[in-house]
Amino acid sequence: MHLYGTQSINDRGHLAIGGIDTVDLANTYGTPLIVYDIHLFRERARAFKKTFQAAGINAQVAYASKAFSSIAIYEVAKQEGLSLDVVSGGELYTAVQADFPREKIHFHGNNKSYSEIEFAFDEKIGCIVVDNFLEISIVKEIAESRNQEMDVLIRVTPGIEAHTHDYITTGQEDSKFGFDLKNGQADEAFRQLYNHPFITVLGMHCHIGSQIFETDAFRVAAETLIEKMISWRDNENFICRVLNLGGGFGIRYTEIDNPLSPSEYVEEMANVVLSMTRTFNYPIPEIWIEPGRSLVGDAGTTLYTVGSTKDIPEVRKYVAVDGGMSDNIRPALYGAKYTAVSANRMTEPHSEKVTIAGKCCESGDKLIEEATIAPAIEGDIIATFCTGAYSYSMSSNYNRLPRPAIVFVENGEEQLVVRRETYEDIVRLDLPLQKVKRGGKV
Ligand code: PLP
Repeated sequence: MHLYGTQSINDRGHLAIGGIDTVDLANTYGTPLIVYDIHLFRERARAFKKTFQAAGINAQVAYASKAFSSIAIYEVAKQEGLSLDVVSGGELYTAVQADFPREKIHFHGNNKSYSEIEFAFDEKIGCIVVDNFLEISIVKEIAESRNQEMDVLIRVTPGIEAHTHDYITTGQEDSKFGFDLKNGQADEAFRQLYNHPFITVLGMHCHIGSQIFETDAFRVAAETLIEKMISWRDNENFICRVLNLGGGFGIRYTEIDNPLSPSEYVEEMANVVLSMTRTFNYPIPEIWIEPGRSLVGDAGTTLYTVGSTKDIPEVRKYVAVDGGMSDNIRPALYGAKYTAVSANRMTEPHSEKVTIAGKCCESGDKLIEEATIAPAIEGDIIATFCTGAYSYSMSSNYNRLPRPAIVFVENGEEQLVVRRETYEDIVRLDLPLQKVKRGGKV
């Protein structure tokens, strides 16, 4: 049984996180309940920042908040001195509600609307990561109409796809994001922005994938972008101040995952940047990164209550819990694997192989196809590990299930930071059928 962060087994034989008994949390707040180990979040954030400091590189570590967006997590990110990566007006609005320092907000997205870009200008955010030619024209139009300055990064696709243990260099990349580095689009985007009276090109951005467990892909990405930086210096007399290498650092969902530590990823990036800039006599740019999953993924644990069970002899046993694909779509969406424990029976042998099924009306709503837990009975509390990233942020009201509550725990203290949805919340946007027809006639 692998425990994460501050998880432990307490003297009642229960799973504890941050010194708090998870069974007590389930009793107090109900289930499904997502519990975040905030100590683990802070530890990771500090590890990323410290390694850059040790390498003597100016850096920004931006929390990629699509992984889990809420006012409270933005407040923790602010306390840790992180920057923030948002991808929509909604995430930006959440950041504003958290009073996140605007100059540390970076705005991503492949189809930002006019009003979203105006919102970014209203809030005077740190930078917009421009993604396509339409966006360039909108950013210029808004800047000119307001006489307002804006910093931008140009998102490029370096032709590297990295996932888990492999990466491939594809030359030209088939991606909906960014400007291709090899076919001239990135150069054209640069020309359209460089020398604009209100726009400052800070540098380049790329994001090469997710759940990456080795450093080679980041090294090749950095080398590819630095080559382009050098060509822009030599041909356009432009010095790139920022090199943003995105997120994608892997975490351990199951025993087959072997992530590196934050420092191993960062050291590789720092080495490439320091050695190439030295060789080509280029001023060392700031390195920005955007970890999402590696800050919140294994910091999150979802607690469920066991309801019905169904034993099909010689086939499998289903253990159904009170959540499912509505609070964690990842297993159904792309076969994501998780592990679980019986939080109220931690000291009992976890000897029963079962399928943990959700309660949604879909046969495919299985949270874990093969879990090994203590023999389950109604009322048991099942804890699914590593659910902190892309679960609540991708949650839905499928089958009109209310979204779970979220609690932060740290140093023996707990705090409810997202309340559980109620049935009233679920119908709050519904309007009853009106008897009035078009034209006002009943
Ligand atoms: N940055 C960008 C541009 C992304 O698209 C993503 C994820 O999709 C991230 C950062 C965060 O990735 P991860 O959560 O794998 O660290």
